[in-house]
Amino acid sequence: MNRVPFVCGNWKMHYGVSEALALADALLPMIEPLAGVEVGIAPTYTALHAVGQRVKGTKLLLSAQNCHFEAQGAYTGEISASMLKDVGCHYVIIGHSERRSLFGETDEGCAKKVAAVLKAGLLPILCVGETLAERDANQTLEVVTRQLTAGLSEVAADQAMTTVVAYEPVWAIGTGRTATPTQAQEVHAHLRKVIAGQLGAGVAEAMRLQYGGSVKAENARDLFGQPDIDGGLIGGAALKADSFAAIVKAAAAG
Ligand code: PEP
Repeated sequence: MNRVPFVCGNWKMHYGVSEALALADALLPMIEPLAGVEVGIAPTYTALHAVGQRVKGTKLLLSAQNCHFEAQGAYTGEISASMLKDVGCHYVIIGHSERRSLFGETDEGCAKKVAAVLKAGLLPILCVGETLAERDANQTLEVVTRQLTAGLSEVAADQAMTTVVAYEPVWAIGTGRTATPTQAQEVHAHLRKVIAGQLGAGVAEAMRLQYGGSVKAENARDLFGQPDIDGGLIGGAALKADSFAAIVKAAAAG
C-alpha cells in the first residue's frame, strides 16, 4: 500500500505567540510546494489559536502536544480534545516519552486519550519507545508491544486506519543519538505485525508509523527510505524552518 508519509514538528515548550507565528510564516512558502507528504506542526497551547488562524487552509496541519481524556469538567489546567478541534487542530500527540517520564502518564491514560481524540474527530499520534536500559536488557520489542497494544485498546478497527504511531526510542530523543535505519525498521516492522494481530492486516497496512529521535536533514532520507517508516516526529530540528523543511523534503522524495 502507498502510505503518504507524515512529518510532524513537536515544538514542545518553545516559542510564544509571536515566535510561533514567525516560524509558521517562514515554513509556509517552503512547505506549500511539496507534494506527496503530509506535514504537521505542534506549537504550545497558547500559540495554537493564532497559528491555527495563520495556517488554516494551507498544507501545515495544526497539531497539539497533549490533551485530557474527558470532554469537559472540573480538571483545572487541562484542555480537552474538542477544545483543540475548536482552535483548528487536526492531530494530537499522545503519550510522548516526556509526558510518560516527567508527568506520570500511563498506558491506560494514553488509551483513554487516544479514544477521546478520535471521539472528538481528531487524529492521535500515539508515541511508544523504550529506554536505554530496556534496550540494553533486550526488552525493546516487549516494551513497545505493551505500549502499543494498550494505547490502541479502545480504538475500533474502522477508526484505527487514520491513527498514527510514532516509534521514539527514549535514548534517541534530544540526545543527538539516532537509531540506525536498520534498528528503527526492525521495530517498525514488529509494530506493524502487532497492529495486524490486534486490528487486522488492512489497518496495519494503512497506518502510518513515524520514527522520532534526533532526526535531522542528514539522516532523514535513510530513515524514511525504510519500508515501514512513514515519516517522522521531529523535536529539535523542527524549531528552525530550514532544518524542518529539509526533513520534510526528504520524506517527500522518499
Ligand atoms: C521528540 O521529542 O519527539 C523528538 C523526536 O525530539 P528530537 O527530534 O529532538 O530528538
